[in-house]
Amino acid sequence: MAKGLIWFRADLRLDDNPALNAALSECEEVLAIYIFSHSQWEIHNESNIKHEFLINNLILLKESLESFGISLIAINTKSYEDLPKDLCSIAVEQKVDHVFWNNEFGFNETIRDQNSIKFLKENNICSSSFHDQVIYSPGYLKTGQGNPFSVFTPYKRRWVENFDMNFLDIAKVSKPKRPSSIHSDLSALKFVKTHSASIDLWPAGESVAQEKLANFLQSKANSYSELRNSPIIDGTSRISPYLALGILSPKRCILEGLKLNDFEFTSGNKGICKWIDEIVWREFYRNIMHSFPKVSMNQPFQEYTKYIQWRHSSEELEAFYTGRTGFPIVDAGIRQMLAEGWMHNRLRMVVAMFFTKNMLHDWRLGEKFFMEHLIDGDFCSNNGGWQWSSSTGTDAAPYFRIFNPITQSQNFDPDGEFIKKFIPELKDVPVAQIHQPQTDLFSSTDYPAPMLDLKESRIRAIQAFKDARENTSI
Ligand SMILES: Cc1cc2nc3c(=O)[nH]c(=O)nc-3n(C[C@H](O)[C@H](O)[C@H](O)COP(=O)(O)OP(=O)(O)OC[C@H]3O[C@@H](n4cnc5c(N)ncnc54)[C@H](O)[C@@H]3O)c2cc1C
Repeated sequence: MAKGLIWFRADLRLDDNPALNAALSECEEVLAIYIFSHSQWEIHNESNIKHEFLINNLILLKESLESFGISLIAINTKSYEDLPKDLCSIAVEQKVDHVFWNNEFGFNETIRDQNSIKFLKENNICSSSFHDQVIYSPGYLKTGQGNPFSVFTPYKRRWVENFDMNFLDIAKVSKPKRPSSIHSDLSALKFVKTHSASIDLWPAGESVAQEKLANFLQSKANSYSELRNSPIIDGTSRISPYLALGILSPKRCILEGLKLNDFEFTSGNKGICKWIDEIVWREFYRNIMHSFPKVSMNQPFQEYTKYIQWRHSSEELEAFYTGRTGFPIVDAGIRQMLAEGWMHNRLRMVVAMFFTKNMLHDWRLGEKFFMEHLIDGDFCSNNGGWQWSSSTGTDAAPYFRIFNPITQSQNFDPDGEFIKKFIPELKDVPVAQIHQPQTDLFSSTDYPAPMLDLKESRIRAIQAFKDARENTSI
């Protein structure tokens, strides 16, 4: 009578969970485990709101698993170095024959898993791993020359060309033959930290996530192409926190989207095609992390950008971190993240470009700041987004194409509604002036004067990139 252990990580769901399905089909009894490492959470700069969201979701996952006769236990481990030993002790103690998990991306995670396999093997325990975050195994899709893709458009083309509808088969979860022999225990999970963002915006649970997906596809997906860039309009799905912890699977998202578009990727409903593109962007960045491990080790993709002389001003950093740069659209984006744990995609790009180009500060500081506050903090997408915005990454924006935050504000928040929502100091400023930082106009409010000159800072950034390029070619 084989006993299986399903090790939950960033896949906190029953639906479309290949590791869980394998455990259920191969073992008569299944036990589930979640292993939390506080130090690793901190090393990865994961946010407090994401931690709270994680715990809320684990509590609901426990209930769902129990209804299938599977108990969930949670344990703490000191670090990823200790984790394989701790996992193995539980597996030995519970007389487990086989451990199952879904893969995660990142250098530390890969080493952790290799060590886990080794420890388990030494104790005659089998292990099996699966991919649930991507449709294609990482590194599977290659360019004509046999290299990994580093540009999105050809990657997406190949992704669609190779697609087979069978990839979207999702197995139904079945009950194991025997219920778990021990009770669930989540007492090790404690949320002790605080944060200022509103967790109420993010109800937990798989059914909530599926409902959000269905609501978006039914009522908003049609207009996604037109409305996705307006931060004041709730025109995107806001499912990123659920994808980040695996409460919802990307395969489920693609399948439900395709069902509403006659299973077409490139024709038919423009909104759905565009939205599925975004899910593929997520997979693209996972492939980048797999094929170019240096990007998960704090390194830029573009070698020459190592030589950029980033500035470092504590005063400017403090103003940026608190949403007081004096550029209303930038500050509104930052304040949205501090209040909601989430920032609209258009503003993530505007904010990241302002930080790395106009302020000329190292993208790694911005990447860390986002991770520390986002509920959807996702190593691959956040790293990809920051490296794209700072022109250090794959498929990056050319360094001389720098968003002008004022034009971005006029184009995407024309009535200044978003700015007024997050910067109450500016609520009485006339719309015609709200985008443009003006010392005299804002002086009657508590809102700061602009921290820099846009034109001069743009020239400074372009020069810094040029210098770095010349440095490498010497
Ligand atoms: C500087 C920067 C940092 C970012 N950090 C993160 C992060 O930590 N976590 C995260 O999930 N996304 C990140 N993104 C990508 C994107 O901003 C968010 O995924 C998106 O805003 C989430 O909102 P949504 O769920 O409503 O997206 P929708 O527009 O509804 O898109 C659906 C899903 O597609 C994926 N997606 C959308 N846009 C992108 C993108 N550009 N790159 C990769 N995947 C995408 C997300 O999983 C998203 O939930 C970042 C982008 C930038 C420019």
